[in-house]
Amino acid sequence: MLEIGKDLAQAIRDEGEKVYPNECCGFVLGTFHEDGRRKTGDVFPIDNAREAEEQYHRFKIEPEDFIRVEKEARARNLDVIGFYHSHPDHSARPSDYDRQHALPFYSYLIVSVEGGKAHGLTSWELAADRVAFMEEKIIWQ
Ligand SMILES: [Zn+2]
Repeated sequence: MLEIGKDLAQAIRDEGEKVYPNECCGFVLGTFHEDGRRKTGDVFPIDNAREAEEQYHRFKIEPEDFIRVEKEARARNLDVIGFYHSHPDHSARPSDYDRQHALPFYSYLIVSVEGGKAHGLTSWELAADRVAFMEEKIIWQ
């Protein structure tokens, strides 16, 4: 279960629209709670690390980005709780590529951007056996 404020959800939508027709991507920072909830505290956009010609359909986060962002999150008493990216002209459902490159445990937020306009925002969690993504319930704050 992921809690996210409308302002942070809007920030993801805005970024998805801004970089359209490319994919935006970034980190989701927040806190883990004992009842399984994750509470979003901030979002952290990163530059698309892929080659320019591939940007429209593939996002990638480099390990050095992860280390840098995790350090910044820690300094603010936050953790990396997941990642977000946009699907230009595709539904807000994870692709096979997304599944193959995902890690269990984190939340994967996807915003669909159709014709430059952001629509649905969904969150997904990889099954422990990595075979499937399960949609995660979002609690709007
Ligand atoms: Zn994707």
